Amino acid sequence: VSSGSNTGKAKVSRDLAELAPRFREAVETAIAACKADGLDAMVYETYRSPELAAAYYARGRTEIPPHATVTNAKTNLASWHGYGLAVDVISRKTGWNKPEEWFAKVAEHFRAAGCRWGGEWKMKDLPHFQWGLCKPSPSPRALELHALGGKPEVWKAVAAAE
Ligand SMILES: [Zn+2]
Repeated sequence: VSSGSNTGKAKVSRDLAELAPRFREAVETAIAACKADGLDAMVYETYRSPELAAAYYARGRTEIPPHATVTNAKTNLASWHGYGLAVDVISRKTGWNKPEEWFAKVAEHFRAAGCRWGGEWKMKDLPHFQWGLCKPSPSPRALELHALGGKPEVWKAVAAAE
């Protein structure tokens, strides 16, 4: 999901404490490796609330401009962001305004730390990284586990927590 536009009352969270413990460690490792490699990568967004997911979904649909939609995730639980298992990473200095090669370099460090990159998808999502043991998108099983025990229940299932 890209920047700009208003998100109503919903706020973007970049709090690493909202991530699954092992995923958080991986993100911190990758960001440190980026820094050592001269890449000014920073985490822009971590956990995504239902309100913010709804605001993103409205873009290009009920809220125009933009004319193109920015996400197909109708609720926060349709994306790993809603489970604390995904982050969006941008440049500290220039935000989203970086070439694909820059994101690909960042992705090497995230891959080494056990994460997957949205830049590998057919519908490329360059700033997006998620826990490597997650499926590309949350399955019905993830929803069930979430209903049972919230985020920690899902974290256990994908070995992102004890
Ligand atoms: Zn994302």
